[in-house]
Amino acid sequence: MVKDKSLEGMDDLISDFNRFYILTLLYKGPIHGYSIIIQFKCRIGKEISPSLVYPFLQQLEEKGYVKHTAELVEDKKRKNFELTKTGKECCTTLFKRFTELVSTAIESSIYACDHCNCKIYESAYRETIDCIEMTFCCIHCAQSYKQSKTINM
Ligand SMILES: [Zn+2]
Repeated sequence: MVKDKSLEGMDDLISDFNRFYILTLLYKGPIHGYSIIIQFKCRIGKEISPSLVYPFLQQLEEKGYVKHTAELVEDKKRKNFELTKTGKECCTTLFKRFTELVSTAIESSIYACDHCNCKIYESAYRETIDCIEMTFCCIHCAQSYKQSKTINM
């Protein structure tokens, strides 16, 4: 893993999941501070305080991870935030690191497809073949598996 010096400041900022989630929203593209609050509520199902969102955005901006442009939306001045190139690179590194952590943590609970061997993160397709319950990523893999079995016999 690349030890990135520029990530150190970022690590300090990511002290909780709320902030992490804000970064994933920013990563998708430019967004209004207000939209962050709305989207947070929709996806996570709980309120996030503007007193957390705005200072965090400001901190990110001070560290050069985020920049903003002001624009008028329905006569109201809104700030549109977006990640800078550095911010985006740091997020990519951070998300990769997080993905590694998460996949290690859930590894034991993940099934692999008995045909293509891909990891099944969501619903698995199960079928009992020759009295053995097999796990597949999809019905097509189950069919391919059965076909290859017939050919081998
Ligand atoms: Zn498969």
